[in-house]
Amino acid sequence: MTTTTPQPADVPAPPTMRDVLAAARRIDGLVVRTPALRHPELDRAAAAAGATGASLVVKHENLQHTGAFKVRGALNLLLGFDDSERRRGIVAYSTGNHAQALAHAARRTGTACTIVMPRHPNPLKERAVRDLGADVVLHGATFDDARARAGEVAAATGARLVGAANEPVLVAGVATATLELLEQAPDLEVLVVPVGGGSGAAAACLVAAALAPGLRVVAVQAAASPAAHDSWRAGELRTAVNATRAEGLAVGCGFALTQAVLRERLADFLLVDDDAIAAAQRLYLTGARTVAEGAGAAALAAVLARPAEFAGHRVGVMCSGGNASEAELRRAIGA
Ligand SMILES: *Cc1c(COP(=O)(O)O)cnc(C)c1O
Repeated sequence: MTTTTPQPADVPAPPTMRDVLAAARRIDGLVVRTPALRHPELDRAAAAAGATGASLVVKHENLQHTGAFKVRGALNLLLGFDDSERRRGIVAYSTGNHAQALAHAARRTGTACTIVMPRHPNPLKERAVRDLGADVVLHGATFDDARARAGEVAAATGARLVGAANEPVLVAGVATATLELLEQAPDLEVLVVPVGGGSGAAAACLVAAALAPGLRVVAVQAAASPAAHDSWRAGELRTAVNATRAEGLAVGCGFALTQAVLRERLADFLLVDDDAIAAAQRLYLTGARTVAEGAGAAALAAVLARPAEFAGHRVGVMCSGGNASEAELRRAIGA
C-alpha cells in the first residue's frame, strides 16, 4: 500500500557544482576512472527490442573499488574529516554496498568505522565488511532494529551516523561518476540511472544541469520497490512496498533531498520488473562480458523495456555495481 510520509523539518541543501568539482579533486587517484564503453552486442539487443539506432555507452562503475559507485561518496565524506572526527569515526546500518564503501573509505583514511547489521546477515557480506577492517555489530531482527542501534552508537561515541540518502557530501562524491562520463562521452543525449534512495540520479541531474543542459536524465527503479518513483510522480514523499530482489534498489521510502533535485530536473522515471533486470544481467554477461548485480543492470533493462524512449539516441547507461552473488548469477543465466 502506498502512503504519504511527512517531510522532515531539516532537509539539507543539495550540493552545488562547485562541491562536485571539489569532490573530484579530493578523491582523484583514490577511485578508479572507470571505462565508458560501447558494446555492439548491446546495441544489437536494443535494436532487436525496438530501440532502432540507439547507441549505448556503458559507464562501468561495476569495476569501481568495492564493486559499486558508492565509494566515491564515502571517500568524499571521510577525506573531509579532521583528526578528531576520524577518531570518533562513523557508524552506519547496511549489509550492502553502502557498508562496503564506508568500510573501504574508512580504512583508506584511518577512520574508525562501525557497521550495524541485523542478526544472521548474508555471511559473504558480513565477511566482506569485516575484511575491510570495520567493526561489525549484529543487532536485532530487522533493519529498523539495526538503525535504532546505530543511532545509539552514534549518541554514545560521537561517531557520525552516515545515512544512505539525504547526505549532500555523498551526493557530491557520487556525482563525479557522471562528471567523468560526460568527459568520456560528451555527446550523450540521454543518461539512464538506477535509483534506490536517489543519490546517484540526483547527482546526475546536478551535473547535467551545470554541464549538459540538453541531456535528458532518466531514472529507473524496480517495479517491486517503487517508492522513489511514486514520490516523484506524486510530488511528495511516499512509502511503498519494498520487495525487489535487487538489493541496491530495495528502498521503501522517498528521501527529501534527492526528491527535491529530481523534481526539478529529472526528465522521466521508469519502472522495470525483476525478471527484466535478470535478463539485462544475462545480456551484460554474454554481450559485454561483464558482471552486473541486479541494481547495476536496471538501467539497461529500462532501455530494453521502453525502446521507443531511446530509439535513435546516444544513451549513457549507468552500470552502477557488480556485486552479484552466485545465486543471483545462476538465476540470471537460468542455470
Ligand atoms: C546503492 C545502489 C544503487 C542506488 O543508488 P541510490 O543512490 O541509493 O539511488 C544502484 N546501484 C547499486 C549497485 C547500488 O549499490
